[in-house]
Amino acid sequence: MKVAFLSESPADEAALRVLAEYVLGAPFQVVAPSLRARGWPSVDQVLPFVLRHLHFETETDQLVVVVDSDDSPVHTAEHEAPGYFHPHCRLCRLRATYRRTVRHLPPAGGRKRVLRAVGLAVPAIEAWYLCGRDTAVTEAAWMRGMATGEAPYTRKELTWRVYGTDRPSLEFELRRAVQEVSRHHGDVRRLENDFPHGFGALARDLRGGGHGAEPAT
Ligand SMILES: [Zn+2]
Repeated sequence: MKVAFLSESPADEAALRVLAEYVLGAPFQVVAPSLRARGWPSVDQVLPFVLRHLHFETETDQLVVVVDSDDSPVHTAEHEAPGYFHPHCRLCRLRATYRRTVRHLPPAGGRKRVLRAVGLAVPAIEAWYLCGRDTAVTEAAWMRGMATGEAPYTRKELTWRVYGTDRPSLEFELRRAVQEVSRHHGDVRRLENDFPHGFGALARDLRGGGHGAEPAT
């Protein structure tokens, strides 16, 4: 199995490799994407180019794409209804970009398409890093805060809690990211419980739901 990663930073990608291996339950070969992205909307903008490159030039089976939600809406169960698309939900938008791109691609390299595995870190990937260590940090807490206008924590606070600084070096960020996700020791149930929408969608895609077979929007 060959998996590629597209996210907001090399530190995110290092942590996502660990989490993807936990979800898949087996090691895989990592394929380097042709382009890198930095933040939103850069990930959405480079996604078509990355997908086309992986499809025609590599033997990649699945592409993992994860972005932070920041202040955008959280992807919820109602977004999963057939044909539903939330124009401001980044997960809905990435899935739509994926669908628009792959539906025009002829089969290549012995497979029909590169499968997708899309996740949304609410409100930032540091929340996932704190999972199991800081029980106040959950998707539900963040969504309650969005509904009431009183955020339970800020993205900057999450950054401080993970790195002890708001400006970690890339090397330190990468080390801390891998350290924190490795606490789960192959078992992602806590992450799926505390982040059922954004992490749950990623895990379901990795386990075989991400075939991109939904009707195109
Ligand atoms: Zn959505």
